[in-house]
Order: sequence, then structure tokens, then C-alpha cells
Amino acid sequence: MLTASFLGCALLLPALLVVTVQGYAHCASEDFDTGYARTQTALSGVDNYLLTCESIAKSVSPASQVFFPGSPEFKADMRHWVNSSSEVSACSVRPGTAQDLGLILRELGATHTPFAVKCSGHTSNPGFSSTRGVHIQMSRFNDITVHEKEGTGLNVVGGRLNGVGVGGFVVGGGYSWKTNQYGLTVDTVTAFELVLPNGNIKKVTEEDKDLFFALKGGLNNYGIVTKYTLKTHNQTDVWGVAMGFSGDQVEPAYTALANFLSKPKDHKGAQLGTIAYNNGTISFGMVLFYDAPKPPCDLYDDLVKLPNAEQSIIEGSFMKFVTSLPNPPPVERSYLDSVPVLHYTAPVLKSIIDEIKAWGDKLKEHDNTVALAFGLDPFEADIFTHGAPSAFPPDRSYTVLPSSLFFGWTDKSLDQFFYDNMRALNSALTEKVIKHGQDVKNAAHYPNYAVYGTTLEQLYGANVKRLREIKKQFDPFRIMDLTGGFKI
Ligand SMILES: Cc1cc2nc3c(=O)[nH]c(=O)nc-3n(C[C@H](O)[C@H](O)[C@H](O)COP(=O)(O)OP(=O)(O)OC[C@H]3O[C@@H](n4cnc5c(N)ncnc54)[C@H](O)[C@@H]3O)c2cc1C
Repeated sequence: MLTASFLGCALLLPALLVVTVQGYAHCASEDFDTGYARTQTALSGVDNYLLTCESIAKSVSPASQVFFPGSPEFKADMRHWVNSSSEVSACSVRPGTAQDLGLILRELGATHTPFAVKCSGHTSNPGFSSTRGVHIQMSRFNDITVHEKEGTGLNVVGGRLNGVGVGGFVVGGGYSWKTNQYGLTVDTVTAFELVLPNGNIKKVTEEDKDLFFALKGGLNNYGIVTKYTLKTHNQTDVWGVAMGFSGDQVEPAYTALANFLSKPKDHKGAQLGTIAYNNGTISFGMVLFYDAPKPPCDLYDDLVKLPNAEQSIIEGSFMKFVTSLPNPPPVERSYLDSVPVLHYTAPVLKSIIDEIKAWGDKLKEHDNTVALAFGLDPFEADIFTHGAPSAFPPDRSYTVLPSSLFFGWTDKSLDQFFYDNMRALNSALTEKVIKHGQDVKNAAHYPNYAVYGTTLEQLYGANVKRLREIKKQFDPFRIMDLTGGFKI
């Protein structure tokens, strides 16, 4: 087995670099209980956050840096995939080593300062990777080391669109173009380097039964990951096609996709679908992937021949495929949610389209820029058999298709309105899916899509109790509650 280590925020990087990390043992040896006692004089307010920033700036090594409002680095660090996920922090710190990050966490815990941990900022949940306190930007953890074998032609089970971060993506689960073959990204992790809430650094492997289980889906509740070691596999050139359908083309397209999905397939294939509402009209998008230079003769023929509004075939390297895919355009304000589905049958898809259209028309009355989308994540029935028990998914005995529900709008004063409507639409869609005979009442919502307010039981099912016990053990003072996210 080959592995590659990705420092906590690495994006798709072709270069192979070996990292040398300096040690700061004197910082890590501070008695945590003494540090925690200082929280009794908890600081509050922006001025005090600034004091914490200054203190961090003085104590970190030259590998790390603190940036203040007005600097280009600060501005870049505040940025998210959607503006509604951004907040203006007192300062931003870019730790350069795990040791410095440990020191920073100790300082934040001791002063009880709210903080954010941001990798590439793709969350649509406000406050999950943003804060008015101290912003930790993980962008300096960007090196990749390939173990055991030098060279190229290797890949890992990573994100499907260009730019999605490693940091949050992996600790939330990770659905990939390779999931049908290898499972979720968490199923391919062999080690995490974790800065624990008390500032100590720990390598977590399957020998650390509880923590290894908890980190695979448990998000930022157990500390901050500074290195992921992932299994690799050989990568050949790949084949893919991105297609768009509009008007009368929509129904034949989703019907053909549903028909295609109902049949057993080769696991090297993977697909994505999008039902989109814009300005009163519904369109449908489809991406078909095959993990070899050409798909088998008749695999995608029926789909590729469908009458379409646009079609682009992508052949070549995996990197070329991922970077050629249309990335959703940046939007001003947005929420994302997870709508678990068991099978995308044509009647289910028709019901979803009808609901999206009806809600889109209704919401357009309030903000005519509103955009709605339902993302289909078709995966094979055995994807959860690839991994050992993990925080997510809570039940590996059957496949749940995570399916994303997206809302985009521009008027900030309507944030709560759109949140309420998104929750209501999710319930309406779930009811429809149940009416079509799919038992999704207790199906897990995917943590990386779920909108804030989703309960822990919806994310982790029967795992909640165990996750809470592990939390008590590794974060007894609940330091990670100072940062946003679903709190265990
Ligand atoms: C355009 C787009 C495409 C997407 N495609 C996919 C896809 O193909 N498959 C899929 O599964 N999901 C996908 N997602 C969802 C994605 O997994 C989540 O948005 C995820 O949160 C992104 O992680 P991030 O690090 O970029 O986000 P951030 O906003 O930086 O962080 C998200 C959360 O993770 C925490 N976090 C970040 N880094 C660390 C770390 N090192 N240690 C501990 N906690 C950390 C943050 O504190 C925060 O709570 C997509 C989202 C978008 C917007």
C-alpha cells in the first residue's frame, strides 16, 4: 500500500515536497490546567481579541504570521466561497508548524477567545470557519509527501471540484470521483496528525481506536488536523463529459439518467447531476466520469446521445478533468443542505423538480436573483463497505445518497427568510421521497452539506453517545466549542 501525506489544507498539487518542521517543545510543555485556570478571567470584546492577537504574534516562531485588517493577507483569509460565510476577525494567523498551532490553541483556550479554523472556506454555514475573534488560516499546511515511491501517476480519493479544501472536506467524510471504487476519503486515511485542544500534537492511527473513529466525520470537534496520510492508487488518463439540458430536453435527460442508474455498473464510472432553478426555468446538468482513457463501448452511449444544450468531452489527465469541470459561479449569499435519498428514480426526480420549480417561483417574489439547485450524488450500493466504523456514516449497512440542496440570493436582510424556507423545502422533499417508498426518515445527513441547525442525531445517528464520550476524554474543557461548527 502506498500513502501520501497532505498537510491540513493542501489542494491538488502536482509537486512532491518533503516538509521539515521545527520543534517548539518549550511551548508544548506548559501545564494545560494552569492555562485553563486563566479562562476564569475570560476576555471578551474586540479589544481583548486584539490583545490575544498581539500575544500570539509575539509567541509564534518565524514560520507563522499574524495579519491585521488592512493587509492583503488578512483580506484573503477572510474570503469564503460565499460572502455570507465571511466575518471580519480581529486578526488572522497563518500557523506554519503544528507546534505553533498548538501554542495558538493554548493561548485561545486560556483567554477563552472565539476562533475560526479555515482551510479553503467552502462551508456555506456562517460562523463554521469564520469568527469575530481570531481567524486561523491553514493555508501554510500545503505540502505533499509521497511515501515509498517517488514519481507521478498517483492519486488519492479527493474532492470532485477544483478548489474544495482538504481540511474540512476530509474530517466531514469526503465524496469523490473515486468513491465507487475506494469509499469515502475518510476510508482511505491511515493517519491524522492532530493538534489536540490542549495544544499537544498527536499522530492518530487505527491503534487510537476512539479518536481515529471520531476524526472520520467528526469535523473540528477533536482538534485541528495538520496532516492527513491517505492511501494512494495508480492514476491513468481519464474520460469525462459535462452536459447541459434545457426546456424539453430536461425530462428525457433525467429519465435516461435514472434508467442508467438503476442498472449494475462498473465501479470505475461515476456521475453527478444538477437540477437548477434560475429566473423561472429549470435546467438539468450531468457529468459522467470514467476512470480510464475511454469508457467501455456502450456504457454511456445512451446518455451522450441525448439531445442537449451543451456538451463538452474531457479526455486526458485526472487534473485536466477536475479543472475543466464547470465550477458553480460565486454567489453573494448561500446555504447548502443535505437531503438523503436512497435511489434517484425518474418519479422521485420528477417530484424534486416540481418542488424546486414551485418553491423557486414563490421565493423569486422576495428576491428575483434567487437560485435553487438540487445536486444528485449517485453512488453504488456498496460504497460504505470500503471502510471501518467511523463517526460518519453512522450506518454502513446501506448507501445513502447525500444529495445537496442549494439556495443562492443577494439580499442580506433575507438570510433568515431563506434559511427558514430551505429547512421547509428540505422537509417537503424528504416527505416526497418517503411517499415514493424510500425510508429516509432516519437516514444520515452528510455533515459537509448539512445546514446549521441540523441535529447531531441526524448527522451521526446512534454514534452520538460514543462521540460525546470521546469528546469528554479529548476536549474536557470544550476548547473546540470556541470555534464554529456542529458541536458534539
Ligand atoms: C463548490 C463546492 C464543491 C464541493 N464538492 C464536494 C465534493 O465533491 N465532495 C464532498 O464530499 N463535499 C463537497 N463539498 C462540500 C465540502 O466538503 C464542504 O464545504 C467542506 O466543509 C469544505 O471544506 P473546507 O476545508 O474547504 O471548508 P472550510 O470552510 O475552510 O472549513 C469547513 C469546516 O471544516 C473545519 N476545518 C477546516 N480545516 C480543518 C482542519 N485542518 N482540521 C479540523 N477542522 C477543519 C472548519 O473549522 C469548518 O468548520 C463541496 C462544496 C462546494 C462549495
